[in-house]
Amino acid sequence: MRIDSILQERRTLSFEVFPPKQEHDEDLSGIKKTLTALTAVSPDFVSVTYGAGGHNRPRALDIAEIVISLEMTPLSHLTAVGYTKEDTKRVTGALSELGVENVLALRGDVPAEMKFPQDPWVDFRYALDLAEFIAPKRFCLGGAAYPEKHPESPDSAWDVEIMSRKERMGVRFFITQLFFDNDVFFKFRDACRGAGVRAPIIAGIMPIFKAQQIRRIVEISGCSVPAKLEAILDRYAGDDAAMENAGSDYAASQIVELWNGGVDGVHLYTMNKSRQVLDIVARSGLRSAKN
Ligand code: FAD
Repeated sequence: MRIDSILQERRTLSFEVFPPKQEHDEDLSGIKKTLTALTAVSPDFVSVTYGAGGHNRPRALDIAEIVISLEMTPLSHLTAVGYTKEDTKRVTGALSELGVENVLALRGDVPAEMKFPQDPWVDFRYALDLAEFIAPKRFCLGGAAYPEKHPESPDSAWDVEIMSRKERMGVRFFITQLFFDNDVFFKFRDACRGAGVRAPIIAGIMPIFKAQQIRRIVEISGCSVPAKLEAILDRYAGDDAAMENAGSDYAASQIVELWNGGVDGVHLYTMNKSRQVLDIVARSGLRSAKN
């Protein structure tokens, strides 16, 4: 089903998974188990990331196929980095054959470990260029949004201008970069609406699994850490179980506040872990699990 149609009917709960490394899950039975567990709360869609440069391309397609086989709606990420128009035509053709109707059109980052023989921006420079190329293929297109500014952007107003351009190019919904401070999200949403961006803006929420993981993410993404979360990270740094419990509470209350604030949807970055994600959904009261 197209995600824009789903969003016309209701606010969404969705999940993101990534293709596991070959050596960790060669036959994808691990990710299949995770996805099967996640069906318990009937997510509105499941997104599958795509490595810039294409090293995990076949596995991303295989996972989209698993999502469909479990009667869930897939959202396939596609990136511009390192891809030619020909590559993209092949991938979008394969996605159509599988029955994938939704694509998240992204620029991607040049992976540090990847050495491109040529310019990484082969045929597309920005997500907008990729969206323009894919739009006529009749996918329902999504785009990325940054409540705390994309690191390369001069300011947030510029990011909102890019969102407006994406919307004019046919993007029908946005999913945000993770954030831990809901006030930041609400201000950002107001700025988008004030600038005329009408497409639904789905909030990306990262569960807190380990203090170290959050510190690393904060360093990379530059997102702010509210005092309440800082206290949790300090207090439970040495105790994984307590950290998970406090982290799940934090994510669940973030979701509840967003939901009460009228968010268009909540997208959980699962890190391919179903147990804690299902626990967060249960604590938030958003959906109860089917038996
Ligand atoms: P763009 O929208 O192209 O923006 C990139 C930068 O260029 C911004 O600073 C923007 O302001 C600027 N810009 C855009 N258009 C123009 C223009 N016409 N002229 C001048 N400047 C411009 N990465 C992956 O590799 N694989 C994934 O699966 C993946 N999934 C993601 C999912 C979500 C929800 C999010 C938020 C990010 C994801 N990323 C993924 C990371 C993303 O690829 C990076 O954040 C990347 O740096 C930017 O991608 P973008 O699509 O926002 O790029």
